[in-house]
Amino acid sequence: MNSDTRGADLTVTWEAVREGLREELGEVTYRNWLMPLGFTGVEGGRVTMTAPTRFLRDWVLQQYADLIRATWQHEHSSVQAIDIVVDPLASANAAMPSTAALSRGAAPVARRPLDLCPGAEVDGQGASAPLDARFTFENFVVGKSNDLAYAAARRVAEAEQVAFNPLFLYGGVGLGKTHLMHAIGRHIRALDPSRKVLYLSAEKFMYRFVRALRYRDTMAFKEQFRSVDVLMIDDVQFISGKESTQEEFFHTFNALIDNNRQIVISADRSPSDLEGVEERLRSRLGWGLVADLHATTYELRLGILQSKATQIEGVDIPPVVFEFLAHKISSNVRELEGALNRVVAHATLVGRAVTLEMTQEVLHDLLRANDRRVTIEEIQKRVAEHYNIKLLEMSSHRRARVVARPRQVAMYLSKQLTQRSLPEIGRKFGGRDHTTVMHAVRRVEQLQETNAEIAEDVELLLRMLES
Ligand code: ADP
Ligand code: MG
Repeated sequence: MNSDTRGADLTVTWEAVREGLREELGEVTYRNWLMPLGFTGVEGGRVTMTAPTRFLRDWVLQQYADLIRATWQHEHSSVQAIDIVVDPLASANAAMPSTAALSRGAAPVARRPLDLCPGAEVDGQGASAPLDARFTFENFVVGKSNDLAYAAARRVAEAEQVAFNPLFLYGGVGLGKTHLMHAIGRHIRALDPSRKVLYLSAEKFMYRFVRALRYRDTMAFKEQFRSVDVLMIDDVQFISGKESTQEEFFHTFNALIDNNRQIVISADRSPSDLEGVEERLRSRLGWGLVADLHATTYELRLGILQSKATQIEGVDIPPVVFEFLAHKISSNVRELEGALNRVVAHATLVGRAVTLEMTQEVLHDLLRANDRRVTIEEIQKRVAEHYNIKLLEMSSHRRARVVARPRQVAMYLSKQLTQRSLPEIGRKFGGRDHTTVMHAVRRVEQLQETNAEIAEDVELLLRMLES
């Protein structure tokens, strides 16, 4: 193989790696942290990538090194390690490196990505992520599981004076945290357009901070955050780690509270359960009102479906379909909405009336996933039995293959058969990191192709657990 073909192949591989990372981390995280990376080449099992700044490199290595390595290995099995070198001129946004550059091992030359330029943003409302017009208080269906969160959010939106600070909303995925935050923001802006409302994901907040540090522009950063009337930070569980960012967050937070500005925070867990967050910040977050959104009830799900259906024109949905969906899809509201949308889209496209049979048919894959109620504990037990190891080994840190392989298989099955996220799965396996789970999933996928024994084990376990 001559080096040019190799270079071209690797360019394709790099694209696949980037796609894999985008898929795994979601658009927002990908864009903020991984898109600026460039690719130089692979030599002796070592991949070399570039980052435009030292800060970005450190951050990416600290947060995503395992994931990036696993993703590379998945696409290119000889990869053993990754390196990221700082190169302010290299940018992944530019065209891919030429094959000639690849074989010389030189970095591609490109402009700095626009998003990394200081001063590219205006302050005030302009610095806020946009607020979705569909997420209003009126569109929010209230039930036992979310009435406290709803009442608190309304209160914050309508209060003349700061009611409780911060308002901390927490609950599982798709239960309406983001919806309520947007509703608060829109309501406040509607009442008084001169009030500055800043709504951001925690990741965006960190990204801005990192960028400010890089350009020694922390004064402007501080100004921007401290001049707002209402600061809302969504999904704050992602702020864990990096001490300097937490430090800055903590100070910003205190400054705003001291100045009587409203803060609203959301997370997927309570303040005391935020791992990797400093104790003083954790306790400070719990000082105001902590309102949790519980799993939905059947009545609430029914109410949400009926409310959504009034916004859909031209399709008649019989009550029995609502009841069926509310009964069957209990995981989260987003999925429930998705199911309804699919049924409606199908009815509109094919010109068919919505019936129970049709609903079951259109949603059969989704319904199957919701039907399987296998728990991670059950999977661990079955897998341990199958391999004849102690159940304890599922959460132990022993690395011997006799226990490590079954553990990986159990992680893989947990990902396949439950709706748990990678971090949740990691927690059940002795508090492992999500990247470890991710690596296990990929590894077992690979092994199934190359190792007949493993493939058989997995197949057998799947069948046992699914029945
Ligand atoms: P979270 O931020 O908690 O993960 P979201 O706020 O993004 O969840 O909600 C997911 C979807 O479900 C959104 O489309 C939202 O409008 C909808 N939703 C959640 N709870 C309700 C509710 N009580 N009433 C109406 N829609 C809801
Ligand atoms: Mg959300």
